Amino acid sequence: MDAWVVARPGPVASRPLERTTLPDPEPGPGELRVRVEACAVCRTDLHLAEGDLPPRRPRTVPGHEVVGRVDALGPGAAGPAIGDRVGVAWLRSTCGACRYCLRGAENLCPSSAYTGWDADGGYAEFVTAPAAYVYPLPEDAPAETLAPLLCAGIIGYRALVRSNLPPGGRLGIYGFGASAHLTAQIAIAEGATVHVMTRSAAARELALELGAASAAGSADPPPEPLDAAILFAPAGELVPVALAALDRGGTLAVAGIHLTDIPVLDYRRHLFEERTLRSVTANTREDGREFLRLAAAHRPRVATTPYPFAAAGRALADLAADRVEGAAVLLMTCS
Ligand SMILES: [Zn+2]
Ligand SMILES: [Zn+2]
Repeated sequence: MDAWVVARPGPVASRPLERTTLPDPEPGPGELRVRVEACAVCRTDLHLAEGDLPPRRPRTVPGHEVVGRVDALGPGAAGPAIGDRVGVAWLRSTCGACRYCLRGAENLCPSSAYTGWDADGGYAEFVTAPAAYVYPLPEDAPAETLAPLLCAGIIGYRALVRSNLPPGGRLGIYGFGASAHLTAQIAIAEGATVHVMTRSAAARELALELGAASAAGSADPPPEPLDAAILFAPAGELVPVALAALDRGGTLAVAGIHLTDIPVLDYRRHLFEERTLRSVTANTREDGREFLRLAAAHRPRVATTPYPFAAAGRALADLAADRVEGAAVLLMTCS
């Protein structure tokens, strides 16, 4: 099969991705094989390509927002049938037996494995995945707009849950890329007032179009104190900025898997009066199912920039340079 691999982790300008031919993968026990229709490009792919997240195995195919159709079943694979449309997401497997898995926090499982990091992902014609970890997807939406839901959407939703936003509350969103624009729409549809802080003028425009109450520069104060905030930008220097924008009792959730250093915090300005700083680590399958249910109900507009499969390197470079509006999506149908 035709595939891209992370050949030499390093700056995107050094072309860390390499296009190659790999044997078609065979689904193992409990796994299914998916013929890929589209794969969205996540910032985590960029962190993997650039080596911010060290590779867990050499020459891995990145990509964990995969839409496709089941085309082969491994022994004992239960659930989806051949021909079904499914999504393959970041969480590839967990142990199911540790203290975290048993209490419903499988996102913290120390034995968890991730698509495109521990196993080959979706920048390829085919991908295999455990049947118990794929999501059924609707037939009536283009693959291009479904793909970003699978990480950008799900992780953003978990960050929203972790931000402890009260019903009808005031939510600040720092950074406005693929994940943030979906999260903002779900929050607004559920009754929140959303303020967006981002350095990109185009993203500020999109935020207002999608119903944000205000949009300002990344370090600007919001027009009112926030009950909750989510930091999507991988910029540690915004942690004190966002904490200072919280009202008493407010919570800041950091959504990214990678963050630059956080400057020294001032206890009184940033944390006292019961402000809370929380991280977000991956997601549970329950988060995924709940988000996809909300997305089906609220039908958020999914801003995408499509790329042909051959342009995976350019998609990553554009993401690194903030040149992508919404989510970059690789389409397998055009090579
Ligand atoms: Zn576990
Ligand atoms: Zn992702």
